[in-house]
Amino acid sequence: MGDGGATQRESLEALLQEARLFRPAPEFSKNANAGDAEIYARAAKDLEGFWADEAKRLDWIEPWKKVLEWDAPWAEWFVGGKLNVAANCVDRHAASARRNKAAIIWEGEPGDTRVLTFGMLQREVNRFANGLKSLGVKKGERVAIYMGMIPELAITMLACAKIGAPHSVVFGGFSAESLRERINDAQAKVLITADGAWRRGNVVPLKANADAALEGTPSIEKVVVVDRVGKQANATMKAGRDVTWDELVKDASDKCAAEPMDAEDMLYILYTSGTTGKPKGVVHTTAGYLVGVSTTHHYIFDVKENDVYWCTADIGWVTGHSYIVYGPLANGCTSLMYEGSPDYPDRGRFWSVVSKYGVNIFYTAPTAIRTFMRWGREWPARYDLSSLRLLGTVGEPINPEAWIWYHENIGRQRCPIVDTWWQTETGMVLMSPLPGLVPTKPGSATRPFPGVEADVVDEKGRTVPPGAGGYLVLTKPWPAMFRTIYGDPERYVRQYWSRYEGKYFTGDGAKRDEDSYFWLLGRVDDVMNVAGHRISTYEVESALVDHDSVAEAAVIGKTDAIKGQAIASFVTLKEGTLPSDALKRELREHVAARIGSIARPDEIFFTSELPKTRSAKIMRRLLRDIAEGRLLGDTTTLADSAVVGKLKQQYEEEG
Ligand code: ATP
Ligand code: MG
Repeated sequence: MGDGGATQRESLEALLQEARLFRPAPEFSKNANAGDAEIYARAAKDLEGFWADEAKRLDWIEPWKKVLEWDAPWAEWFVGGKLNVAANCVDRHAASARRNKAAIIWEGEPGDTRVLTFGMLQREVNRFANGLKSLGVKKGERVAIYMGMIPELAITMLACAKIGAPHSVVFGGFSAESLRERINDAQAKVLITADGAWRRGNVVPLKANADAALEGTPSIEKVVVVDRVGKQANATMKAGRDVTWDELVKDASDKCAAEPMDAEDMLYILYTSGTTGKPKGVVHTTAGYLVGVSTTHHYIFDVKENDVYWCTADIGWVTGHSYIVYGPLANGCTSLMYEGSPDYPDRGRFWSVVSKYGVNIFYTAPTAIRTFMRWGREWPARYDLSSLRLLGTVGEPINPEAWIWYHENIGRQRCPIVDTWWQTETGMVLMSPLPGLVPTKPGSATRPFPGVEADVVDEKGRTVPPGAGGYLVLTKPWPAMFRTIYGDPERYVRQYWSRYEGKYFTGDGAKRDEDSYFWLLGRVDDVMNVAGHRISTYEVESALVDHDSVAEAAVIGKTDAIKGQAIASFVTLKEGTLPSDALKRELREHVAARIGSIARPDEIFFTSELPKTRSAKIMRRLLRDIAEGRLLGDTTTLADSAVVGKLKQQYEEEG
C-alpha cells in the first residue's frame, strides 16, 4: 500500500503518455468559425459582455435590460428581454433568403424521406400551433410528447414554443410506466404521440403504450396521434379524448403569431437519463438557453451556410433538443434526422446516410463508436465519406482507442474531433475543443467553452494540483444552465449547489493535466478505492478497450474485505473472438502494463452485452449490485431489462 495521491498520478501518467496531440490543420483553421484565439481571453475578461455580443445572433421582441442577475444558485439571464424561440428557429429564416433552404432532412427507417424547407416548416409549425390552441392549450401549460424520430416531433416542439406551452419530451423507447411518471410529474394537459414507430423493421406500439400510461394520468385531457406506421400498429382511438394529427390540422390556418415570451419563461422540462438513479425534471428557460445552444453550435460544430449537419442522438435526450432542434435551427442550419437503428437493414446504414446526403458534420456517442468498432472497419470502408469535415462525440468519456478508430475510419484522418462534455442540466456544451483552434488529445474534452469556468477540487473544495483527480465543479453561471428541478427547487439546491458554496457540483470526476486539459473520469460514484488508491473506472475500461480483442468494458469497485474494493470488469469481445481463461489472464496483464499493477482487475467476466440506459450509457450501479449479490436497484431506465437479469444469473452461476 502506498500514498494514494502518488499512485493516482502514476496511473494518470500511464494514460497520458500515450496521449497523442492532434494539431488543427491550417486549411481548417483558416475558415473556422472560432478562428480567433482571443475569444477565450475576451470571455474571461468580460463574461456578460461576451454573452451580450453572442445574444445578438437572435431576434428580440424587446431588448434585455440586464445580462445577468446572479444570486447563487438562482440565475436570470437577459433580464427583461422578450423573444420567441420558434420565431428565431423558423420564422426569421422563412422570411429570409433561407426560405427555400432545407431546415430538416428526414430519413425514415424503411427508406421513406421528407425534406422540410424553412418555409414549409413554418407552415407546419403554425398549423400545429393553431391545432394545439384549438385543444385549449394555453401559455404555460405543459404538453407531453411521446414519439419516434419523425418530423412531427420537431414540429410539435416548435409549435409549443410558438404558443409558449412548455413541452416535456419522453423518449419513445420508454415504457408505459415511465411515460406515466413523467406525465404526472409535469402535470401535462395534452399528449402528442404516434400510432407506432419503426425500429429494426419492427413496430414499437407507441399508442398502445400511451393508452396504458394514460390509465393513471388525470391531468391529460386530449391526445393527438400521428399516423406513422398504419395498420400494423394496431392503434385504437378513444372517442372524445383522441384525435389524429391530420384531423387536427386539416382546417388549421398556417398563420400563427409568435407569443412574446419573457427571457425567463419556461421553454421545456426534460427528465435526465437516470444513469445514477431517479430521473430529475430539468427546467430550461427561453433566452439564455437559446443563446447558449446557438452560440456553442456555431463555434463547436463550425457550421457553414451550405453544410448538412447530422446529430444521431434521439430527440428524447437533451442532445437532440439542443443540437438537433434548437441550436441548429436557430442558426438556420440544415439538420438531418434519422428515424431508425444503425444496423437496419444492415450495419452500413449510418454511412449510407452520410454519403446519400453528403453529411458534412457528424455528431454521435462513444457507445455507438464502440459498436462500430465491434462490427469492423469494413462497414464504413464501403462508403464515400469524403463529405465529412468535422466529427463530434458526447454522452460518456470516449476511450482513446475509440477516438483513434473514429479519427481513422470515419474521419479518414482529415476531420477534427470535438469531444463535448455536458449534461441535461447544463443545457449546452460546456467543455469541448474549438475546432481549428484547440489541439486535441484522444480522450480529453480539452477545455471549457469561452466564458465557462471549471475547476477540479477535492472533498473540501480545494483546487487539486495538475495530474490529481477530483470532482469537476463549475464556478461561474452560464446562460443555458437549468433553473430548477420541476416541482422540487429544494432538490435543485441540495443536489447541485450545496456541496460547495456557490459552485455547481457536476457529479463527475475529472483531472487536469499539465497543459490544463480536462479529462473526464466518469461519475463520482464510479470512482473506485482499491487498497487506499483512487482509481477511475474509465481508465481501467480504456486500458481494456485498448486490447485488440475487446469491444467494450465496464469496470466497478466490488466490496472486498482486504482491499476495500476489488476491481471487477465486465467485458464484451469483438466479433470473432472467443472467451477463454488465457484471454482473461492476458487482459489482466494488459491493464497492469498500461496503468500499473494496482489497477490489475481482480475479476474479468465475459458477457455478450452490458446493461445500458435507454440513452445507451453503461449502468455501473447495477453491475455493482450484481457483483455484490444484492437485489437490483431501479431498472426502469434500462434499455433492455432482460440483459441485466441474464447477466446476474450467469454471474451467480459462474461465481
Ligand atoms: P442521471 O443524471 O439521471 O443519472 P445522466 O447523468 O446519464 O443521468 P445526462 O444528463 O444525459 O444524464 O448525461 C450527462 C452525463 O453524461 C455527464 O454528467 C457525464 O457523466 C456524461 N458525459 C456526457 N458527455 C461526456 C463527455 N464528452 N465525456 C465524458 N462524460 C460525458
Ligand atoms: Mg447526471
